[in-house]
This record gives sequence, structure tokens and C-alpha cells, in this order.
Amino acid sequence: MKVICPVCNRLFEAECSPYKEMYNGIVYYFDTEICQLAFRQNPERFVYNCKNSGSQAQ
Ligand SMILES: [Zn+2]
Repeated sequence: MKVICPVCNRLFEAECSPYKEMYNGIVYYFDTEICQLAFRQNPERFVYNCKNSGSQAQ
């Protein structure tokens, strides 16, 4: 499964990475441990905003 790392926006195979994180009921995949740690520190900055798009736009 091809996924995009929400931290660095890089496309990679989710099966090739052990780094994933559950947040608000959604599983996020990361290409590196560094990206996973960055997400953990500030998940709100990286979460996908498919629904309610625009409501919190800067
Ligand atoms: Zn990344």
C-alpha cells in the first residue's frame, strides 16, 4: 500500500515501514522514526484534514 508520510510528504510503501501511529481513530504511517517522533510531538500540525477543510485554515 502506497502512503504519504504526513510529516515530510514522501510517498512510500506502508508495508516497508514499522513506523505508524494511531491518532483520532486514524492510522498514520511514517517513512522514518524521525517523522514519527515529530508527529508525536505535535500531531495537530500533521493530521489529514479531509473533512471540515477550510474551517481551520490559516
Ligand atoms: Zn517522513
